Amino acid sequence: MDIRELFTKGFGYPPEVVASAPGRVNLIGEHIDYSEGFVLPFAIDAVTKCAIAKRDDGKIRIISAQKKNEIIESNLEAIAAKEGSAWSRYIYGVIWAMEIDSGLDIYIDGKVPLGAGLSSSAALECSLATALNHLFHLEKTLPELARLTQRAENEYVGVPCGIMDQSISLMARAGYGLLLDCQDLSTRHIKIDFASRSLRLLIIDTQAHHALTDGGYAKRRESCEEVAKIFSIASLRQLSMESLLAHKTKLSDIQFKRAHHGVSEMLRVLDAVKALEAEDFEALGQLLNQSHNSLRDDYEVSCPELDLAVDTALRSGALGARMVGGGFGGSAIALINESDAGAVSLAIEKAFAKNGFKAPRFFDSLPSDGAKVIS
Ligand code: ADP
Ligand code: MG
Repeated sequence: MDIRELFTKGFGYPPEVVASAPGRVNLIGEHIDYSEGFVLPFAIDAVTKCAIAKRDDGKIRIISAQKKNEIIESNLEAIAAKEGSAWSRYIYGVIWAMEIDSGLDIYIDGKVPLGAGLSSSAALECSLATALNHLFHLEKTLPELARLTQRAENEYVGVPCGIMDQSISLMARAGYGLLLDCQDLSTRHIKIDFASRSLRLLIIDTQAHHALTDGGYAKRRESCEEVAKIFSIASLRQLSMESLLAHKTKLSDIQFKRAHHGVSEMLRVLDAVKALEAEDFEALGQLLNQSHNSLRDDYEVSCPELDLAVDTALRSGALGARMVGGGFGGSAIALINESDAGAVSLAIEKAFAKNGFKAPRFFDSLPSDGAKVIS
């Protein structure tokens, strides 16, 4: 059913505005946003839609088609006090960050799979922010909306995410990736024409979620910060590969490996931009492989499921493959020939079954458009 009809069925009257925002996948540039590096994500074609209408009684009522279609009721005072539980916090967070002072009825219908590393959270936040921006004539720019939705997730939901997911969900363009400089948040659209070469990017959700028993993410960040301190620089962004190699003895083995990933990954993102501009997809594939090896060996954030997905994809003819996201589970991507799609996913499915792993899920998408007001 269309989201307008869903809203009308749920709340008994039609919505005032409908907006949508996509999920994303990060082509390359992993674990370097917090080191002020570059990332190169693109939007997938799966979107979250949001329909809203104003209320004049200060009540906030929300429904999600993915959460049993139940009405959850709150109000502006409760949101000012940062109340709310579970998924409702993503919505209240955006209302809070955007300082909306009107009651609202909100209906959410998301086609981005939840928790698969495709950023259903940013799709939700950005579809709502886009709808609110339009409904209340706030005229916020896309970078402003990116900061506000990030703030909602950081400070209301309590997830310390960077700004990549929201930026790409808001600013994406069909046929392009977004080169985002995490130092100054400047962006550049980079053409990604997989289709003209009959290529596609397969997304493999391993369905593995290994607990970070040693505080893996925080420890990795810490190592990068320690290295920056030793070199008296603000972040790894200021460290060249030459300088890192020349001063290796200043660092512990672990510190060197972590910094080696950060510095080499930043160079790989820029090389990936060159490869895309030259439409050299073989070179891009090699960079994806190097990124994976670096995340596995230097950064040590891969896991058996991710390695198996990547290795099997490569053995089945992929031009390149790598884990994406924080690691220790989640998804991998593989750049493959369109005609190999069935064979690659079947080989991965079989390899997972043979190793006693949970069955993986597959998605694929060409680079798609960013958030928009639909009606
Ligand atoms: P990812 O962003 O990779 O999908 P996250 O854990 O960051 O994973 O965000 C997933 C969470 O976002 C869900 O557990 C839920 O709380 C919320 N969410 C996302 N989409 C929806 C939706 N359509 N309806 C309700 N909640 C949603
Ligand atoms: Mg998320």
